[in-house]
Amino acid sequence: MTTKRHQIVVQGITVEVVRKDIKNLHLGVYPPNGRVRVSVPSRLDDESVRLAVISRLGWIRKQQDKFEQQARQSQREMVTGESHYFQGHRYRLNVIYCKGPSSVSITKNSTLELRVRPGTKRDKREVILNRWYRQQLSEQIPELIAKWAPTVGVTVAEWRIKRMKTRWGTCNTKAKRIWLNLELAKKPDSCLEYIVVHEIVHLLERQHNERFREYMNRFMPQWHIYRDELKQVPLAHEHWIY
Ligand SMILES: [Zn+2]
Repeated sequence: MTTKRHQIVVQGITVEVVRKDIKNLHLGVYPPNGRVRVSVPSRLDDESVRLAVISRLGWIRKQQDKFEQQARQSQREMVTGESHYFQGHRYRLNVIYCKGPSSVSITKNSTLELRVRPGTKRDKREVILNRWYRQQLSEQIPELIAKWAPTVGVTVAEWRIKRMKTRWGTCNTKAKRIWLNLELAKKPDSCLEYIVVHEIVHLLERQHNERFREYMNRFMPQWHIYRDELKQVPLAHEHWIY
């Protein structure tokens, strides 16, 4: 596949244009700064790309605003009183400094209790909480794969949890390996399940094409709902034009 890229500026917004052998135009706004990239079929000229971008300027600006908000929100201090999410629910963080091993637990249904040694710095507190998220996710994923791989009719050779900036999951179809974003620990179970199914379905179809959507509709008819839920606090904002 031949790929050519260059930049154009549309009403003050820098847009990276990537030309390749694809059928449809695909516009994306990416974190952390709201970078805009548009993938277009080779035959489409810059003027058509410009018009397509202009027609979606409202949407682009909205996504960029969201990233700005998200960036502000993600400046966490890891201190008592902050809101942190787990499996779609909001918890109030309670940091307790005490001797003994560090731990994380949910108490009184609405408190995320983080126990750390006196003097534990912010970054270390975050590492401890992330380790806990990873552990929780690791307990959920095998069950989901055991449920969905046979349903879809494929084998998953390996899975991993990764911290990813722009994707909820990825699939290496050759190695039959799926990677899931650690952030999914914060999302409702249904969203995690949707991403697992989505990545598993990639083992049947690599592209996000009609065939892929048909599989999704067959295996998980309500997938749009979960996708929309994930989009509320998204990693990357993608606008697929079919
Ligand atoms: Zn995908």
